[in-house]
Amino acid sequence: MAGMSGDDADFAVLGGGLVGAATAWGLARLGRRVVVLDEGDVAHRASRGNFALVWVQSKGLGMPRYAAWTRQSSDLWSGLADELKRETGIDTRFERPGGFSLALDEAELERRVAMLRRLHNQPEMTVALGTEIVDRGRLAGMLPEIGPDVVGGVYCPFDGHANSLKLLRALHAGMQHHGAVYRGGCAVQAIEPSADGFRIRHDGGETRAARVVLAAGIGNARLAPMVGLEAKVRPQRGQILVTERLQPFLRHPVVTVRQTDEGSVMLGDSQEEAGFDDSVGTDVLATIARRATRMFPLLGRANVVRSWAALRVMTRDGFPIYAASARHPGAFLVTCHSGVTLAAAHAYVLAPMLAAGALAPDLAAFAPERFDVSPPG
Ligand SMILES: Cc1cc2nc3c(=O)[nH]c(=O)nc-3n(C[C@H](O)[C@H](O)[C@H](O)COP(=O)(O)OP(=O)(O)OC[C@H]3O[C@@H](n4cnc5c(N)ncnc54)[C@H](O)[C@@H]3O)c2cc1C
Repeated sequence: MAGMSGDDADFAVLGGGLVGAATAWGLARLGRRVVVLDEGDVAHRASRGNFALVWVQSKGLGMPRYAAWTRQSSDLWSGLADELKRETGIDTRFERPGGFSLALDEAELERRVAMLRRLHNQPEMTVALGTEIVDRGRLAGMLPEIGPDVVGGVYCPFDGHANSLKLLRALHAGMQHHGAVYRGGCAVQAIEPSADGFRIRHDGGETRAARVVLAAGIGNARLAPMVGLEAKVRPQRGQILVTERLQPFLRHPVVTVRQTDEGSVMLGDSQEEAGFDDSVGTDVLATIARRATRMFPLLGRANVVRSWAALRVMTRDGFPIYAASARHPGAFLVTCHSGVTLAAAHAYVLAPMLAAGALAPDLAAFAPERFDVSPPG
């Protein structure tokens, strides 16, 4: 930018979690000059506490566009994993062997099947999610360690998982490889639109950028009004348990149980409305452990080595928000609750749109104006 000095950039990305990092990497690999301003580890960071599924099977009831977006990201994910590995040496351990949700009684299976039928029967569904109802007999062949309480399940060939901490690390290394600058400890306090872009005041000083991308997770709620947008996001708590490392027994991720590349088993994850309280509670953890042990009885003999709670970034309808400010052109808002799943879409589809300066019309379903109208009664 002519006339700018110091920390000047084509794009300032506010927030260095999975959403900001995937977007920043996508912009930097296209040659844009990017500065990432991140509050750092003191903030609530969903990106460091998640379950790491790349999950498709249940996405999009109420918004078919979200099903297509999620499927597209899942399809782009192996390319993302390959490119990041080539570029940074970090293996994000992405695998897409297909995933399951399991039911522990007939009523639970029926509810799940009914939900999937409604999802598939939506008039605007443009993609197949490939889901299949799998009876106990077939399940036992694919998941040999299931317990006697499992009555059936749903399989989706597009479900997978990764190591989300390695993903975050790889995106950070990758964006820096492409020349992006990461500034930690820089909580943004004010965004001032100016004639040639935006002046951003933060704890580390001031940054000027031609365009600004708000990717601050729950922090977007405070930042969005500064650029004439609204980000109605709230925290939703999820608790997770991790066992000691076990011999490989579970090739496919299950929505609440997955064996990591290191052998430990993650059990999760609750969905609780607890405001900003990110403490763990033994009641919820016991319920998670009990269900997981009924699904896979061998877990009853495993030691739990860790537990934590983290806060999801949740919109009212659970779908992402992608928005361009009409009042301050060049300001964008990006937020979602499935930042692992959508990392590839953010890097390969969304970032090129931002680089070109406008969101494509086919992302209109994700605009925040949808919250201004009541759903049809
Ligand atoms: C328990 C749990 C399980 C999950 N499981 C999955 C899963 O299986 N699959 C999946 O796809 N997703 C999952 N997620 C969601 C995923 O972790 C999030 O979608 C993703 O981390 C959101 O990333 P984010 O970058 O928007 O937010 P965050 O990770 O919260 O990052 C926001 C960043 O913005 C910064 N920030 C905030 N305010 C400011 C400010 N004013 N100035 C500068 N920086 C600021 C913070 O420091 C932080 O680094 C899960 C989440 C949780 C909590």
